[in-house]
Amino acid sequence: MENVKELDKQYVANTYARFPLQIVSGKGSLVYDETGKEYIDMGTGIAVNTFGVADSEWAAAVTEQLMKLQHMSNLYYTEPCAKLAKLLCEKSGMKKVFFGNSGAEANEGIIKAARKYAAEKKGPEYYTIITLKNSFHGRTLTTLAATGQDKFHQLFTPLTPGFAYADANDLEGLKRLASEVKPAGILVECVQGEGGVLPLTAEFVKGVADLCANEDIDFMVDEVQTGNGRTGKYFAYQNFGVLPDAVSTAKGLGGGLPIGAVLLGEKLKDVYSPGDHGSTFGGNPAVCAGAISVVSRIDDALLEGVKKKSEYIFRELSGAEGIESVAGMGLMIGIMTAKPAADIVKACMANGVLCLTAKDKVRLLPALNIPQELLEKAVAVIKECCK
Ligand SMILES: *Cc1c(COP(=O)(O)O)cnc(C)c1O
Repeated sequence: MENVKELDKQYVANTYARFPLQIVSGKGSLVYDETGKEYIDMGTGIAVNTFGVADSEWAAAVTEQLMKLQHMSNLYYTEPCAKLAKLLCEKSGMKKVFFGNSGAEANEGIIKAARKYAAEKKGPEYYTIITLKNSFHGRTLTTLAATGQDKFHQLFTPLTPGFAYADANDLEGLKRLASEVKPAGILVECVQGEGGVLPLTAEFVKGVADLCANEDIDFMVDEVQTGNGRTGKYFAYQNFGVLPDAVSTAKGLGGGLPIGAVLLGEKLKDVYSPGDHGSTFGGNPAVCAGAISVVSRIDDALLEGVKKKSEYIFRELSGAEGIESVAGMGLMIGIMTAKPAADIVKACMANGVLCLTAKDKVRLLPALNIPQELLEKAVAVIKECCK
């Protein structure tokens, strides 16, 4: 057998700083490397495997659909797409859904929706999208432009024009910027994920929602990482008592298959007309069948479990030796450690626990149904490695 690590190094584009670890299989929150060593997975493919690896209910839903119809073009109606859209609207308070394949594509869709609405309603000069500094919205040239971090922009300019950046949690600064740029929309992550697992303040989120409502600016929330139960509510904005005009989501929605979605609220639900937007794989029946299985199981009981497990992690790690702070919401947690985060992740890996980093923090994104016993084991290892 050829060495996978060598093959990958030779033939796969060098865009990822991979760990020296090959994962070959798993079940739930346990995964196995090529030697058979077991790991507790506290990263879930970056908040994607909502119910862990090889979840049997999700896999059955996908395979059953695969044997009926794996794909049709969007020129025809298919059942899983329509049913998933209804479910998402019921969970979110939104009214219509556009399906794509990734988080970046969802954000492209939400930005196009805001631009079209503003161009028709207020005039084509109202094209600017305000995002926050330290945000992350994706890797395409437009979503890179939306990402308020210079380090991602270098060497890829010119990016899509029409983006302006405000400081998170500075409502006055945001209002000033909004009065200067003729905004079409304001796009925020309620918890900045890649930026270091930093929740926005309740006052700021409410203030953005009010500003948008008063000025007919689209209030848009990027729920690519925070969505689908991750923060203890179906969507993170539901923790803040606000209702956006549009929501983008992806990662955990498909339970492990690629999907992204733009959810359009009352104001924007009919902004798109035929020909405005599209995606060949969008609404793919097999992917949507799996997503229906995921979304329909994110109920109050599961969300209660997410909150309990979150409290457990905060309780155990806050103030522990070598841990400076614990931040986040639900099962999206960032730990500031005395030792470098990368060293902690490496030590955890050696001890059978897979963690992530976000900026200079250790980041945890376990499966929403991680068994308490595995969670306790993983937290004990993390604690030990932080000392
Ligand atoms: C991961 C992420 C994206 C990009 O999603 P892709 O599926 O990688 O395109 C966008 N926004 C946020 C908040 C994310 O966490």
